[in-house]
Amino acid sequence: MTRGRALGTASGRWARALGERLVEVVYPATCAGCGRRGCWVCDPCRAAVPLFAPPWCTRCGIPDDRACRCAMLAADLALLRSAGPFDGWLRRAVIAFKYEDETARATPLGDLLRGALEEVDGLDGLVPVPLHARRRRERGYNQAALLCDRVGATIGIPTLDVLARERETRAQVGLGAEARRANVAGAFGMAPGRNVTGLRLALVDDVCTTGSTLAACAAVLVAAGAVEVVAATLAREV
Ligand SMILES: [Zn+2]
Ligand SMILES: [Zn+2]
Repeated sequence: MTRGRALGTASGRWARALGERLVEVVYPATCAGCGRRGCWVCDPCRAAVPLFAPPWCTRCGIPDDRACRCAMLAADLALLRSAGPFDGWLRRAVIAFKYEDETARATPLGDLLRGALEEVDGLDGLVPVPLHARRRRERGYNQAALLCDRVGATIGIPTLDVLARERETRAQVGLGAEARRANVAGAFGMAPGRNVTGLRLALVDDVCTTGSTLAACAAVLVAAGAVEVVAATLAREV
Protein backbone atom coordinates (compact mmCIF):
# COMPACT_ATOMS: atom_id res chain seq x y z
CA MET A 1 0.00 0.00 0.00
CA THR A 2 1.41 3.37 -0.93
CA ARG A 3 1.78 6.07 1.61
CA GLY A 4 -0.67 8.34 -0.28
CA ARG A 5 -3.35 5.68 -0.17
CA ALA A 6 -2.75 4.93 3.51
CA LEU A 7 -3.34 8.59 4.33
CA GLY A 8 -6.51 8.58 2.25
CA THR A 9 -8.32 6.20 4.62
CA ALA A 10 -10.49 7.55 7.43
CA SER A 11 -8.13 6.23 10.13
CA GLY A 12 -5.16 7.62 8.21
CA ARG A 13 -6.77 11.05 8.05
CA TRP A 14 -7.60 10.88 11.75
CA ALA A 15 -4.03 9.89 12.62
CA ARG A 16 -2.67 12.70 10.48
CA ALA A 17 -5.00 15.26 12.06
CA LEU A 18 -3.95 14.07 15.52
CA GLY A 19 -0.30 14.24 14.51
CA GLU A 20 -0.69 17.79 13.25
CA ARG A 21 -2.44 18.80 16.49
CA LEU A 22 0.39 17.29 18.56
CA VAL A 23 2.93 19.17 16.44
CA GLU A 24 1.01 22.39 17.14
CA VAL A 25 1.27 21.74 20.88
CA VAL A 26 4.96 20.87 20.82
CA TYR A 27 5.96 23.44 18.20
CA PRO A 28 3.52 26.34 18.33
CA ALA A 29 3.46 28.08 14.98
CA THR A 30 5.41 31.34 14.86
CA CYS A 31 5.77 33.70 11.93
CA ALA A 32 9.17 33.10 10.30
CA GLY A 33 9.47 36.81 9.56
CA CYS A 34 8.62 38.52 12.85
CA GLY A 35 8.12 35.75 15.43
CA ARG A 36 4.42 36.48 15.99
CA ARG A 37 2.62 33.45 17.46
CA GLY A 38 -0.27 31.60 15.84
CA CYS A 39 0.79 31.38 12.19
CA TRP A 40 3.80 30.26 10.10
CA VAL A 41 3.86 33.59 8.29
CA CYS A 42 1.74 36.61 9.14
CA ASP A 43 -0.05 38.76 6.56
CA PRO A 44 2.25 41.81 6.85
CA CYS A 45 5.42 39.68 6.45
CA ARG A 46 3.92 37.83 3.47
CA ALA A 47 2.84 41.09 1.87
CA ALA A 48 6.38 42.49 2.28
CA VAL A 49 7.88 39.59 0.26
CA PRO A 50 5.15 38.08 -1.94
CA LEU A 51 5.39 34.58 -3.41
CA PHE A 52 6.04 34.19 -7.12
CA ALA A 53 2.78 34.27 -9.11
CA PRO A 54 1.85 34.03 -12.79
CA PRO A 55 2.38 35.36 -15.36
CA TRP A 56 5.81 33.78 -15.25
CA CYS A 57 8.28 32.24 -17.67
CA THR A 58 6.97 28.72 -18.33
CA ARG A 59 10.48 27.25 -18.14
CA CYS A 60 12.41 29.02 -15.36
CA GLY A 61 9.29 30.08 -13.42
CA ILE A 62 10.49 33.65 -12.86
CA PRO A 63 7.60 36.16 -12.85
CA ASP A 64 7.42 38.36 -15.94
CA ASP A 65 8.23 41.51 -13.93
CA ARG A 66 11.74 40.11 -13.22
CA ALA A 67 14.48 39.07 -15.65
CA CYS A 68 14.05 35.51 -17.05
CA ARG A 69 16.72 33.11 -15.74
CA CYS A 70 16.41 30.36 -18.33
CA ALA A 71 20.07 30.86 -19.28
CA MET A 72 21.15 29.45 -15.88
CA LEU A 73 18.97 26.35 -16.22
CA ALA A 74 20.78 23.14 -17.22
CA ALA A 75 19.61 21.50 -20.47
CA ASP A 76 18.69 18.40 -18.44
CA LEU A 77 16.03 20.36 -16.52
CA ALA A 78 12.71 20.72 -18.34
CA LEU A 79 11.56 23.45 -15.98
CA LEU A 80 12.06 24.93 -12.53
CA ARG A 81 9.45 26.24 -10.12
CA SER A 82 10.07 28.02 -6.83
CA ALA A 83 7.54 29.29 -4.32
CA GLY A 84 9.20 32.66 -3.92
CA PRO A 85 12.41 34.69 -3.62
CA PHE A 86 15.09 33.81 -1.02
CA ASP A 87 14.30 36.92 0.93
CA GLY A 88 12.47 38.17 4.02
CA TRP A 89 10.18 35.71 5.84
CA LEU A 90 10.77 32.95 3.26
CA ARG A 91 14.53 33.17 3.72
CA ARG A 92 14.09 33.03 7.51
CA ALA A 93 11.66 30.11 7.22
CA VAL A 94 14.08 28.11 5.06
CA ILE A 95 17.00 28.76 7.44
CA ALA A 96 14.94 27.79 10.52
CA PHE A 97 13.70 24.65 8.75
CA LYS A 98 17.14 23.64 7.52
CA TYR A 99 19.52 24.64 10.28
CA GLU A 100 17.50 25.24 13.46
CA ASP A 101 15.61 21.94 13.81
CA GLU A 102 12.23 23.55 13.05
CA THR A 103 11.04 20.45 11.21
CA ALA A 104 7.39 21.30 11.95
CA ARG A 105 7.77 23.85 9.15
CA ALA A 106 7.78 20.93 6.69
CA THR A 107 3.96 21.13 6.62
CA PRO A 108 3.45 24.80 5.68
CA LEU A 109 6.58 24.88 3.52
CA GLY A 110 5.60 21.64 1.77
CA ASP A 111 2.23 23.18 1.00
CA LEU A 112 3.98 26.19 -0.56
CA LEU A 113 6.07 23.86 -2.69
CA ARG A 114 2.98 21.94 -3.79
CA GLY A 115 1.46 25.25 -4.91
CA ALA A 116 4.56 25.98 -6.99
CA LEU A 117 4.24 22.57 -8.71
CA GLU A 118 0.50 22.89 -9.28
CA GLU A 119 0.45 23.01 -13.07
CA VAL A 120 3.13 20.31 -13.50
CA ASP A 121 1.28 17.08 -14.42
CA GLY A 122 2.22 13.46 -14.88
CA LEU A 123 4.97 13.13 -12.27
CA ASP A 124 5.96 9.61 -11.22
CA GLY A 125 7.97 10.63 -8.17
CA LEU A 126 9.58 13.35 -6.08
CA VAL A 127 13.35 13.07 -5.67
CA PRO A 128 14.96 14.87 -2.74
CA VAL A 129 18.42 16.33 -3.30
CA PRO A 130 20.41 14.09 -0.94
CA LEU A 131 22.69 15.12 1.88
CA HIS A 132 25.96 13.30 2.42
CA ALA A 133 25.41 10.49 4.96
CA ARG A 134 27.53 12.27 7.57
CA ARG A 135 25.66 15.58 7.20
CA ARG A 136 22.37 13.69 7.32
CA ARG A 137 23.40 12.03 10.60
CA GLU A 138 24.51 15.33 12.14
CA ARG A 139 21.32 17.15 11.15
CA GLY A 140 19.05 14.21 11.91
CA TYR A 141 16.92 14.80 8.82
CA ASN A 142 17.11 15.74 5.17
CA GLN A 143 14.97 18.84 4.78
CA ALA A 144 14.37 18.10 1.08
CA ALA A 145 13.03 14.63 1.90
CA LEU A 146 10.64 16.09 4.51
CA LEU A 147 9.30 18.45 1.82
CA CYS A 148 8.85 15.56 -0.63
CA ASP A 149 6.95 13.55 1.99
CA ARG A 150 4.54 16.43 2.67
CA VAL A 151 3.94 17.21 -1.01
CA GLY A 152 3.65 13.52 -1.88
CA ALA A 153 1.17 12.81 0.92
CA THR A 154 -1.13 15.55 -0.34
CA ILE A 155 -1.00 14.79 -4.07
CA GLY A 156 -0.37 11.04 -3.95
CA ILE A 157 3.10 10.88 -5.50
CA PRO A 158 5.86 8.81 -3.86
CA THR A 159 9.17 10.14 -2.55
CA LEU A 160 11.88 8.33 -4.49
CA ASP A 161 15.12 8.57 -2.53
CA VAL A 162 17.13 7.41 -5.54
CA LEU A 163 20.14 9.75 -5.43
CA ALA A 164 23.20 9.49 -3.23
CA ARG A 165 25.76 12.12 -2.33
CA GLU A 166 28.92 10.22 -2.96
CA ARG A 167 31.39 12.92 -2.11
CA GLU A 168 31.26 15.49 0.67
CA THR A 169 31.18 19.01 -0.69
CA ARG A 170 31.94 22.28 1.03
CA ALA A 171 29.01 24.58 1.70
CA GLN A 172 28.06 26.48 -1.46
CA VAL A 173 27.50 29.70 0.51
CA GLY A 174 29.86 32.41 -0.67
CA LEU A 175 31.01 30.59 -3.80
CA GLY A 176 30.57 32.03 -7.30
CA ALA A 177 28.78 30.16 -10.11
CA GLU A 178 31.92 28.55 -11.53
CA ALA A 179 33.20 27.48 -8.10
CA ARG A 180 29.76 26.04 -7.26
CA ARG A 181 29.75 23.94 -10.43
CA ALA A 182 33.23 22.60 -9.63
CA ASN A 183 32.24 21.95 -6.01
CA VAL A 184 29.34 19.64 -6.93
CA ALA A 185 30.88 18.06 -10.05
CA GLY A 186 30.75 14.30 -9.59
CA ALA A 187 29.28 14.64 -6.10
CA PHE A 188 26.04 12.80 -6.90
CA GLY A 189 25.24 9.34 -8.19
CA MET A 190 22.39 6.84 -8.20
CA ALA A 191 21.78 5.06 -4.90
CA PRO A 192 22.62 1.37 -5.22
CA GLY A 193 19.89 -0.76 -6.75
CA ARG A 194 17.58 2.12 -7.72
CA ASN A 195 16.05 2.38 -11.18
CA VAL A 196 14.41 5.45 -12.74
CA THR A 197 14.15 4.24 -16.32
CA GLY A 198 11.15 5.80 -18.07
CA LEU A 199 10.11 7.96 -15.10
CA ARG A 200 9.12 11.63 -15.05
CA LEU A 201 10.62 13.08 -11.90
CA ALA A 202 10.64 16.29 -9.88
CA LEU A 203 13.85 17.11 -8.05
CA VAL A 204 13.16 18.90 -4.77
CA ASP A 205 15.48 21.18 -2.80
CA ASP A 206 15.10 24.07 -0.37
CA VAL A 207 16.92 26.83 -2.26
CA CYS A 208 18.20 27.32 -5.80
CA THR A 209 21.08 29.79 -6.07
CA THR A 210 22.97 29.22 -9.33
CA GLY A 211 21.29 25.92 -10.21
CA SER A 212 24.54 23.92 -10.05
CA THR A 213 23.26 21.35 -7.52
CA LEU A 214 20.01 20.77 -9.47
CA ALA A 215 22.01 20.50 -12.69
CA ALA A 216 24.35 17.87 -11.23
CA CYS A 217 21.41 15.83 -9.87
CA ALA A 218 19.38 16.11 -13.09
CA ALA A 219 22.35 14.90 -15.13
CA VAL A 220 22.57 11.74 -12.99
CA LEU A 221 18.81 11.04 -13.33
CA VAL A 222 18.80 11.60 -17.11
CA ALA A 223 21.88 9.40 -17.55
CA ALA A 224 20.07 6.73 -15.51
CA GLY A 225 17.12 6.77 -17.94
CA ALA A 226 14.60 9.27 -16.53
CA VAL A 227 12.49 10.56 -19.44
CA GLU A 228 12.02 14.01 -17.97
CA VAL A 229 13.32 15.88 -14.93
CA VAL A 230 11.75 19.04 -13.55
CA ALA A 231 12.76 20.79 -10.33
CA ALA A 232 11.03 22.59 -7.50
CA THR A 233 12.57 24.61 -4.71
CA LEU A 234 11.01 26.61 -1.91
CA ALA A 235 13.08 29.67 -2.61
CA ARG A 236 15.21 31.08 -5.40
CA GLU A 237 17.93 33.67 -5.28
CA VAL A 238 16.99 36.26 -7.88
ZN1 LIG B 1 5.34 38.22 10.57
ZN1 LIG C 1 12.83 31.82 -18.24
